[in-house]
Amino acid sequence: MDKRVTEILHRALEDTAPSREDCIYLLGFDSASPEATFMRGVANDIARRKTGNTGLIFGQVGLELFPCEADCTFCSFGKSHTGFTGKITLDEDTIRQKVHDFTKDGDLYCLWLMTMADFDLDYYLRALRIARETAPPQTLLYTNIGDTDYETFVKIRDAGADGAYHVVRLGEGVYTTISPERRRQTIENARRAGLKLQDCLEPIGTEHTPEELVDHIFQTIEGGFDTAGVMKRTPVPGTCFTDEITNLRMAQIVAVNALAVIALDPYPWLPVHEADPISLASGANSICAETGVNPRDTEADTSTGRGQDVSACRNILWQAGFEYVARGDGIRVALTPEYMAQCDANV
Ligand code: SF4
Repeated sequence: MDKRVTEILHRALEDTAPSREDCIYLLGFDSASPEATFMRGVANDIARRKTGNTGLIFGQVGLELFPCEADCTFCSFGKSHTGFTGKITLDEDTIRQKVHDFTKDGDLYCLWLMTMADFDLDYYLRALRIARETAPPQTLLYTNIGDTDYETFVKIRDAGADGAYHVVRLGEGVYTTISPERRRQTIENARRAGLKLQDCLEPIGTEHTPEELVDHIFQTIEGGFDTAGVMKRTPVPGTCFTDEITNLRMAQIVAVNALAVIALDPYPWLPVHEADPISLASGANSICAETGVNPRDTEADTSTGRGQDVSACRNILWQAGFEYVARGDGIRVALTPEYMAQCDANV
């Protein structure tokens, strides 16, 4: 076992976060090496201790689909390569039904309402109000929308949103037509409007170096986010990317991220997407159910494609050994086979 890795991990077990250079060093090991296995185990132990072995379930409803002007090269909706040519807009009854299906058991931590880069504000505000009326009060509502000014975020907050998911993505301005500065400004606009903020290290491809990954992790640490997720890039047919990192490599990145955020108090929640058993045993604790449109899918409704429903997410967390799920108000619910059966019987 590498001596420096042993020292970094022993310090982490005593609540001292690895430095930027330490994180780059950890990410330099092969994902099947004993050092990577050791870092995943330590990250798993720390994240579970800090959260009382608790997981979160997020849900996303994709509201609209049309060729997107932002034209991100990794997304199935980018206008220059998408296979979707028409426009799909979920109607109010469908939104209500999808929100009900995801939130009826009361244990969904938060629900994202997603649109393309450009969106109709009146439609979006109506969707938010429907979600707020339909979901129980303890479920938080988050936006997943294009770049937005402060005044619009105030309207969105007043319609019921609690927070915003907005990320300066890896390769922003290179793989996308949006500048990193514009994305940062949107995050600031949401913060000024009083919204909570979620971040994610995404979308990770095979070309990303340890330095690039660690740059983002440390921007998350400095940025005041409630969540610090990790997501790999899916090689969606039709996009220019065909490569993919393995789930074992993603779990190593999850582990280094979980170790680095020891520096934060409170310790953030750690989503992984798409969640898999290795990452959920390497420090990640949050999983996302998806319905409607999905930028990593070629199906118009991801619930018939890549997306998982809330019941499946609950089961994946239980299989990964989590003993509780936390609701949006912080109350923890014991995750047992009896509880899961009771949820599945709810209509
Ligand atoms: S990732 Fe978002 S902004 Fe980029 S093309 Fe897809 S929907 Fe548009």
